[in-house]
This record gives sequence, structure tokens and C-alpha cells, in this order.
Amino acid sequence: MHDNPTLSAAVAAAETVLPLFVLDDGIRGTRHGAAANRDAFLLESLADLDTSLRKIGAALDVRRGDVVAETVRAAREVGADAVFATADVSPYARERERCLAAELDLRLVDGHFVVPPGEVAPAGRDHYLVFSPYYRAWSDVPLGSVLRAPRWLRLPDGCLGAPLVASRRAGGETAGRARMARWLRAKLVTYGAGHDALGDDDTSRLSPYLHFGCVSARELAVKAREKGGSAFVRQLCWRDFYAQLLYANPRTQTHDLRPRGDRWRDDDDALAAWKAGLTGYPLVDAGMRQLASEGWMHNRARLVTASFLVKHLGIDWREGARYFFDLLVDGDVAQNIGNWQWVAGVGTDTRPNRVFNPIAQARKLDPEGVYVSRWVPELAENSYPAPIVDHATAVAEFRRRRGL
Ligand code: FAD
Repeated sequence: MHDNPTLSAAVAAAETVLPLFVLDDGIRGTRHGAAANRDAFLLESLADLDTSLRKIGAALDVRRGDVVAETVRAAREVGADAVFATADVSPYARERERCLAAELDLRLVDGHFVVPPGEVAPAGRDHYLVFSPYYRAWSDVPLGSVLRAPRWLRLPDGCLGAPLVASRRAGGETAGRARMARWLRAKLVTYGAGHDALGDDDTSRLSPYLHFGCVSARELAVKAREKGGSAFVRQLCWRDFYAQLLYANPRTQTHDLRPRGDRWRDDDDALAAWKAGLTGYPLVDAGMRQLASEGWMHNRARLVTASFLVKHLGIDWREGARYFFDLLVDGDVAQNIGNWQWVAGVGTDTRPNRVFNPIAQARKLDPEGVYVSRWVPELAENSYPAPIVDHATAVAEFRRRRGL
């Protein structure tokens, strides 16, 4: 509802508007894995949106099936002149947009990112491949004013269905905006110094709300910037960076941006130990268990666990990305793929052969062992497994495989 350029454009253009969401079985089910955590969050978010729309005289029409067919059907039912939708970047979303545009008058509006893909580009190219120059150009883009939520909305006649209900209220704009407000008020100032500390859990946890559009990335950036939160705004820029990268390189959803001639190992036992949090490296195991339990993992732990899979175990980053994507409540194609390729050294990292040392990282970022003991309590009881690989041997093996 807030700072939603698509909704605002529709309300400005038309006397009546039908807010529509189509639950796409292709995304929810088999195509992209189980994704049960995201599914629950989505349903909560839709129920919250319906409640908010009812407060201004409207309601959300939720349908299920093929997005293009259901949207065309809904548009015909109400005699819509145009369909407004927020532009997205994944190959799947863009194909959906192409099909919709072939069927009806589709007005795509930017609104999912602080700065839309393609808005800044280096000379002679349509996108950036390195973060730092992107960040500099991105920081100079005027962000415009944050849009207010519409105060009323008139539905076409006969469109008011039964209210949506959700058992939990974790997802949605109401919870997201409350979290954003708390975060900006109480935690933003210490973010720069504290966001890598694993035990403190001092990051915003706004990623699922950003993914589902419950919180506007632009509003968050504008407000954080006003309060001097440059370290936090820089992280929001990473989100835009990976979005413009996938937008310009759709093949990278499955293919390396910068192939390194890797020959990945097939090792089902090692992959299973990694997934289960039983590698014998406490920080890796803590991260993987947090993911399994919460559907979320601290960014530092994501870096260490991903690096461990690819560089210590020599397993294809796509295996890890698939597993993360199944479980993450913030699972997002552009962010997941961009980060996994960065860690694997086949993407945009300018030091592609760096290896995160899980022992040194734990010592530095979890010196009291708060994070590790939260997730790996058996460490204190000596019933913890031995490491499945030796660190120095694994690193030497990785360097040999990369021809270093
Ligand atoms: P905060 O530290 O509070 O940061 C605020 C926001 O900035 C985040 O919500 C996010 O939108 C953005 N941000 C922060 N770090 C990054 C980053 N490295 N890349 C892109 N955006 C960032 N993030 C996702 O949203 N979806 C994913 O599927 C995803 N997969 C990842 C996979 C791997 C292997 C790694 C290393 C990182 C991944 N990330 C992903 C990025 C990052 O870990 C999460 O965005 C962050 O941990 C979310 O927690 P937060 O909201 O508390 O972040």
C-alpha cells in the first residue's frame, strides 16, 4: 500500500481498480522446490493486504493457476482497459510479463528496487559487473519522493469477496512496516559496527518483506539515508546490484557468469552432512541448522556455509543455491544466484579464489561462541562429530583444482 508506484499509477489512471494476486503453482510447487516457508509468508502477506484494502473500501482478489490466463480472465470479467504490474527481473518473471503484454495492455511500473535495473550503467555497457563503481553511480541517483498509501479505492461492481484470513501475522506490510520503524529508530545507528557479529543478531531481518514487496526498498533507503545509515543503505545497494546483474544476464540463473573451468565433485555424503549441519565445523553447522530451523540465516553464516560447500567440499554451487532457495523465507532468484556465484568465485567477486576459513571467522565474529552454542549445543558435551575434511588439505585441493 505504501510507496507502491504501481498501485498509485493505477489509482491515478482509473475510476475503478481491481487489486489482483494470482497464486502461481509454478512458483509455489514443483518448479522451484518446496518453498513452504515462503508460501506461508506469502499467504500471511496477502491476508494483511486484503485487510488494509478493506479499510479503504476495496479488497484483494486472489486467484490460483496460470498467472497469464487468470489475469486475462479477471481483466475480461471487469472490462479492464489496462493491467498495471510491478516489473521484476528473473527470467521466469520476464517471460510472464512478455506473455501478459501479448494479451492485454500491460503497464509495467518500476517499484521493486531503490534504483531500477538499467537506470545506471557504465559507458558503453548496459549494466555493472563490479559493485564499487555501481555503488558510486547508484548513490548519485535522486530517489524521488516516497508515495503515500491511497486513501480510498473503488472496486468494479460486484468484486467484493470474502475476507482472507491467516493464522499467523508474521508476514505482510503491517508487520514489515512496524519492523522497519523499530529498526530505523533503535538499531540503524549501530549497524555499521555490528552487522557482522553473529551472536548479536543485529541485522534488520527485513529481507523477506523486501522480497515480497511488503516494505518499499526505496522508502527504506530514503529514511535510512536521512538518519545517516550509510552502511545499511550500501547493503540495499547490493540487492539492486544483483537485480541488474540477473536482468542483464538471465543465463546466470543456471550458468556461471565467469566460468573458471571448475570440475565439481559428486559427494552425496558430504552434501548430506552439509545440509544437516554435521560437517564438524561449528560455525558451518550452526548456520545450516539456523536455516533449517528458521528459514533464515545470518549473512555472515551464509557466506561461510556457502564457501565451505564450494571451496572445502568442491561441490557445485548450484546444489547449495537450490537447497537455500528451498528453505529461505527471503529466497529470491537474483539475490540467491548472485550471492552464490560471488562466493563460488564464478560471479562478481574481484577476489574469486578467496576461501572463508570457518574457524577464523568464528573466532572473529563469534568470539564468545554465542551463535555456535545456540545452534550446536552438543559441542559442550563432546558428542560433536569430527571434521569431515581437514581445512588446510581442502584449501590446497581447491587451489590445485583452480590451477593456482
Ligand atoms: P540486513 O543486513 O539488515 O540488510 C538489509 C537488506 O540489504 C537485506 O534485507 C537485503 O535486502 C539487503 N542485503 C544485505 N546483504 C545483501 C547481500 N549480500 N546481497 C544482496 N542484498 C543484501 N538475500 C535475499 O534477500 N535472498 C536470498 O535468496 C539470498 N541468498 C543469499 C545466499 C548467499 C549464499 C549469501 C551469501 C547471501 C544471500 N542473501 C540473500 C543476502 C543476505 O544474506 C540477506 O539479504 C541478509 O542476510 C538478509 O538479512 P537482513 O534483512 O537482516 O539483512
